[in-house]
Amino acid sequence: NLKGKTAVVTGSNSGIGLGVATELARAGADIVLNSYTDREEDHQLAERLSAEHGVSVRYIAADLSKGAAARGLIEEAGACDILVNNAGIQHVAPIEEFPVEKWDAIIAIMLSAVFHTTAVALPMMRKAGWGRVVNIASAHGLTASPYKSAYVAAKHGVVGMTKVVALETAEEPITANAICPGYVMTPLVESQIPDTMKKYDMDRETVIREVMLERQPSKQFATVEELGGVATFLCSDAARQITGTTISVDGGWTAL
Ligand code: NAD
Repeated sequence: NLKGKTAVVTGSNSGIGLGVATELARAGADIVLNSYTDREEDHQLAERLSAEHGVSVRYIAADLSKGAAARGLIEEAGACDILVNNAGIQHVAPIEEFPVEKWDAIIAIMLSAVFHTTAVALPMMRKAGWGRVVNIASAHGLTASPYKSAYVAAKHGVVGMTKVVALETAEEPITANAICPGYVMTPLVESQIPDTMKKYDMDRETVIREVMLERQPSKQFATVEELGGVATFLCSDAARQITGTTISVDGGWTAL
């Protein structure tokens, strides 16, 4: 039961972030939702989640490509017992053609932002005497694929960062772990389908089974609810001694 805890979930107006926020709300945590947009529907999403689970839910807009905004998000949240670093983007191109601004954005949003939010959240966790850092890394934090240089570098970086946070908090009631999903069906994955269809000259179904799920032996996508369940487990008492490690949710991908 996470009643009385506040969870800040970055990049949580869709996909895995929203799935994680929903499961943490179901477990009783108050939630801070975030993305870089500040639309009516973002705030309505917070109201809906609050009404559904009887917890406090706020939406705070912050563009995590900017370090000051990432720090400002945690400061504005005011409390952060559970920090879920989830925001992410993807770009696929060979290294020599990889746009520099895409490289910079991916490293900023998916690696530097984790440093900034963690730096502000740790003192809050220490003050509260309890904390959980859950970083949403990827199977690409443990293995690589061609054409995803920035993503693979950022995710390997997040796995390393997670270990450092765990060591710096090892004797305290704080843990830090990374969840490494294989393919989860979300807008981020959906957006890769048209390009991949073009690249391999394949139809949608073939792309899903033979390209996207080629490395996922289960041949099934994980769901955002399942990711939320794993994050909630990492926040439970049973996971007290789990720190500085990765949990793969990848249908066997990294067993290959
Ligand atoms: P998604 O596109 O649905 O969600 C990404 C979230 O990040 C969105 O809420 C988006 O608004 C937010 N975001 C993007 N740029 C931002 C910025 N500058 N500032 C603040 N928020 C920003 O994608 P998803 O699949 O749910 O991805 C969530 C995380 O899971 C990412 O870190 C991704 O790398 C990781 N992941 C996804 C999969 C998958 O198969 N979907 C697999 C492994 C890892």
